[in-house]
Amino acid sequence: MADVYYDITDDVKRDVLAATDLVALIGAATALKKTGRSWKGLCPFHNEKTPSFHVHPEKGFYYCFGCGAKGDAISFVRETERLEFAEAVAYLARRAGVALPVRKSGTRVDRAKETRTAEALAAAAAFFRYALRRHAGALALLEKRGLSEEEAVGFGIGAAPDSWDALKTTLSGRFAEETLLESGLLQKSPETGRVYDRFRNRVTIEIHDARGEVLGFGARSLGDEMPKYLNSPETSRFSKGKLLYGLDRAKEAIRKHDTAIIVEGYFDRIALARAGCENTVASMGTALTPAQADLLARHAATVIAAYDGDPAGIAASYKAFPLLLARGISVKHLVLPGGHDPDSYLAAAGAEALRAAVEGAPALVAALLARIPGPGSDPSARAARLREAVEIVSQARDTVLRHELLSALSRGTGVPLAVLRGSAPAPERPGPRPEAGGPSADERRSGTSPQLPEGEERILSALMMDWVDARPLVRRIPPEIFSHPIAKEIFTALRAVAETDQTLDFSELESHVGADAGPLVARLLLQEPTASGKTEEGVRGLARLHIPLLQLKIRHLEEKAAALQPEIHRAEISGDKNAHARLSREKHGLAVEVARLKAELKSELRRPSSRDARE
Ligand SMILES: [Zn+2]
Repeated sequence: MADVYYDITDDVKRDVLAATDLVALIGAATALKKTGRSWKGLCPFHNEKTPSFHVHPEKGFYYCFGCGAKGDAISFVRETERLEFAEAVAYLARRAGVALPVRKSGTRVDRAKETRTAEALAAAAAFFRYALRRHAGALALLEKRGLSEEEAVGFGIGAAPDSWDALKTTLSGRFAEETLLESGLLQKSPETGRVYDRFRNRVTIEIHDARGEVLGFGARSLGDEMPKYLNSPETSRFSKGKLLYGLDRAKEAIRKHDTAIIVEGYFDRIALARAGCENTVASMGTALTPAQADLLARHAATVIAAYDGDPAGIAASYKAFPLLLARGISVKHLVLPGGHDPDSYLAAAGAEALRAAVEGAPALVAALLARIPGPGSDPSARAARLREAVEIVSQARDTVLRHELLSALSRGTGVPLAVLRGSAPAPERPGPRPEAGGPSADERRSGTSPQLPEGEERILSALMMDWVDARPLVRRIPPEIFSHPIAKEIFTALRAVAETDQTLDFSELESHVGADAGPLVARLLLQEPTASGKTEEGVRGLARLHIPLLQLKIRHLEEKAAALQPEIHRAEISGDKNAHARLSREKHGLAVEVARLKAELKSELRRPSSRDARE
């Protein structure tokens, strides 16, 4: 096989997966029994006595509630036959009788195609930079952040005009429509077949690979249009979870300090760079993925986690810690005062304060200790936080370091080292866990997939169960109403899939989410639908969403209004009458909307048909 290369595009991959009989493939390794729409058997990846391994042929994936093993036919063959990706696809293609397009490595045609895509993205970047000059709305948004036009362009920021075809018209003389569609710059409406600009009336941010080549764009809306951030679609070239935004520019500074700062958003990265911390990269709106942690580990010995200071941001940091420690990285945690993120803190407190905060970021143990309540407080709350801290430091790869971190926790809390050690789990090893017997599937369930707030999980579950009916609805639900980052991530992935796909397919959906969300996606997809297709039952299932959606919307607007209060206060103190009036008006507007939604909720709850949704 060494001298033959297969040209495995996303289309080829899809064809091979579609032609593969997943139940027959996996059934050869373990006996499967049909239960509802899925098949169940003993997990081939871990030892168990009662089956917790599911295969869902329609959605093309397997999932084990016991050990968390999951994937499609390709990952199954890779795991069991120890094959590389291309070999696994070739193996399945032979098995299913699908002919693969063969090529010699890097034939002229392939290279030309890749070059054209890269050129189209570079041309789009130049167009957006040029368009920024004439886009008053985009310039105003940047000015509010203290960014001049020249400075913004220096950071790879541009603007997409408020038009359906400005980019299309400009580039179509030089590039084939197919190239522009493939590079994600244009998109095609599945209903009408119309082709139009993907990014419209937005501030655009170039996303480069480590060498500085444009791979795609992030694009922020100017007002409240949803989604707030729209990214280039996921392709084999552009995969958000495997990239770190800003690495091309940050590389040198990271090497110099042997330290990287990891933040959530594009503008956080830009804010820190402007404050002189050039060694900053962003995980682009998601919690750090294992692939991003690998990338960080290749560049820096120390990482400062500087996610937002709000509860979601702190949760994201706590998820990043074990990933970083497991890769031998020394970790610090920066929490900015007042729930600020680096971008808002730069605006509120200035460059010097932001730089000082970074320099004073406490080492991991100190940061963990700061969030453990003192000995006088509620013992169970204290124990929970302490256990969380022990679990995090137990992921340190180096045994000596692990001992040092545990000792420091022991000294800081006064809890004897032996007690902490007793509650420490073994560091996580990649791959399936070889365990015999073990707890039941239900007991392990919570261990392998994250717990979401109940209302949010119910909404996701209802949408995924009745996808045919839910698909048009998905576009109208703003992602902001989900508070849990994983819920938001899965919902955003559903929106992306809804634009193109009639059916929900595991590999497609999983390619849109980070590793943390994968198990939950699998669990939700394994639910039996309430009804197939457009039946009354399916529609009723979706109607039940109305109440939890209203509740989430109300909560979201109330939080938004509460967040305005400190700004109003600041405007009052600084005597900025205009800002004060504008913010007060905004807050009043939110209050009116909340009152309206509450009235709607009240009348919904009174309706007899909604009784089952009340609970
Ligand atoms: Zn298993």
